[in-house]
Amino acid sequence: MASDKTSEQQAPEAGRDFIRDIVAADLAAKRHGTVVTRFPPEPNGYLHIGHAKSIGLNFGIAQEFGGRCHLRFDDTNPAREEQEYIDAIKRDVKWLGYDWGDNLFHASDYFDQLYAWAQDLIRAGKAYVDDQSQDQIRINRGTLTEPGKNSPFRDRSAAENLDLFERMKAGEFPNGARVLRAKIDMASGNINLRDPVLYRIIHASHPRTGTTWKIYPNYDFAHGQSDAIERITHSICTLEFEDHRPLYDWFLDNLDVPSRPHQYEFARLNLTYTVLSKRVLTELVRGGHVAGWDDPRMPTIAGIRRRGVPAEALRDFIKRIGVAKANSVVDAGMFEFSIREALNRTALRRMAVLRPLKVVIENYPEGKSEELEAVNHPDDASAGSRKIRFARELFIEQEDFAEVPPKKFFRLFPGNEVRLRYAYFIKCTGVVKDAAGTITELRCTYDPATKGGNAPDGRKVKATMHWLSAADAIPAEVRLYNPLFNRPDPSGGEGFTADLNPQSLDVLKDARVEPALKEAKVEQPVQFERQGYFCLDRDSTSQKLVFSRTIGLRDTFAKETAKG
Ligand code: ATP
Ligand code: MG
Repeated sequence: MASDKTSEQQAPEAGRDFIRDIVAADLAAKRHGTVVTRFPPEPNGYLHIGHAKSIGLNFGIAQEFGGRCHLRFDDTNPAREEQEYIDAIKRDVKWLGYDWGDNLFHASDYFDQLYAWAQDLIRAGKAYVDDQSQDQIRINRGTLTEPGKNSPFRDRSAAENLDLFERMKAGEFPNGARVLRAKIDMASGNINLRDPVLYRIIHASHPRTGTTWKIYPNYDFAHGQSDAIERITHSICTLEFEDHRPLYDWFLDNLDVPSRPHQYEFARLNLTYTVLSKRVLTELVRGGHVAGWDDPRMPTIAGIRRRGVPAEALRDFIKRIGVAKANSVVDAGMFEFSIREALNRTALRRMAVLRPLKVVIENYPEGKSEELEAVNHPDDASAGSRKIRFARELFIEQEDFAEVPPKKFFRLFPGNEVRLRYAYFIKCTGVVKDAAGTITELRCTYDPATKGGNAPDGRKVKATMHWLSAADAIPAEVRLYNPLFNRPDPSGGEGFTADLNPQSLDVLKDARVEPALKEAKVEQPVQFERQGYFCLDRDSTSQKLVFSRTIGLRDTFAKETAKG
């Protein structure tokens, strides 16, 4: 096995992307002593491959420039957040190969300070309690072309605001009765500056603070100030927050914060055949469209891992796609490329017959068997070899035989000779069928002179096939995963179910694998020769092995397109 260590310390690459350029310039100009970044997930779902891009960027920059990266849970909405997600997020960041060390934080660590800052804004006449309903607030916010309207509660005295805010905190009012808003400018061209909501009343139990708080800061009020408290230097987020940057700065300008972070925006990852909306991913799980957050068809880090993708492949993909300022959609084939690259290097080769067809070698003595040598990796002699057993009764793949061969079919058909990998040439001499006409068995002969796979007389065969000895082969279930969506641009909204691929999972209950696979370990990649990369699934028991296909040997998406 090649090692899968975390991305090693490397020199920052000048010009690699615009954010690294900014960090390099800031460090060179001594605007900061060290770079401090953060990855700020909201624990309302599992992390997905888009988050991996953000993790790779934030932790990667910290590593490359000798700084640090904080893991900060943006746990400001107890109505949607759960401990399960917090645990999963930590597991996934670690699995990706990153380490936050002692720097694990929560926005909820700062609830007291944030509350005190909100009071400061009230005292300075820069925040007020608004009694309008959510709907009224939305209507009065105006549109892109029309200014908003001032709330009738906008000019409350500081004393009245402080009192109401205190009573909101004490839990005197029901959800939605009042909010705290910043008093900025209802006519601003930037809607985010039209008196944004800072606090809302939520009666719910918070995973960390329990029922202590009845009011919760929203993302905008918590985020920048948390950055300032943690002395984050570069607060890197996705493009949709670009319009929030003036608000991010407004809070820092109007509060007595301990440091002055800056926000930078980059383009989020979008992938063909993939939906990365947390709302849709949650729906896929809740609606039973997949078997859970770590279903191997999910674009979640947990799903990708369970599918057998090494962390190294995900990091390689993140590095290849780079970081840009303009939104784009990455071809899912690119991720597959990184997966195959990593797996081709590391996965040991094994034989498995997914849809078995029995073969009887008529001229091979009954009761006899012999061991043959099979290499574990064609490009890595240090991976060694193993013994595989040849005998009179074998299994081959159903699709490797055709009673009436179509054009250019070079595999087994009556009268044709092929090579069994590591073994002998065999020739088909007969076909046995049941009463319904289904082929149940092939009769073949072998040429003892071709042991090892070559004929002393120099004759050639056009196909080399995988096979197993019937007596040795171990039954297994094999799960063939295909893309979850059947369109390159699936709907990321309401209509997503219409774009689900009905063939995203094909379960083969009657497959056979070679005995060496008894030693397979969960998530450890293996190549089934000629079929693709697979890994043992954790659903396996001592009674039943279950293998999942990580990826086929050739580009899934190119093939799909060619088929039209
Ligand atoms: P939501 O806020 O709707 O729950 P989210 O995907 O933004 O969903 P967060 O937990 O807030 O989830 O995301 C954590 C970080 O990951 C944020 O900084 C966010 O910008 C970044 N991120 C989320 N999706 C992507 C993506 N597709 N590509 C790159 N970064 C992403
Ligand atoms: Mg978010």
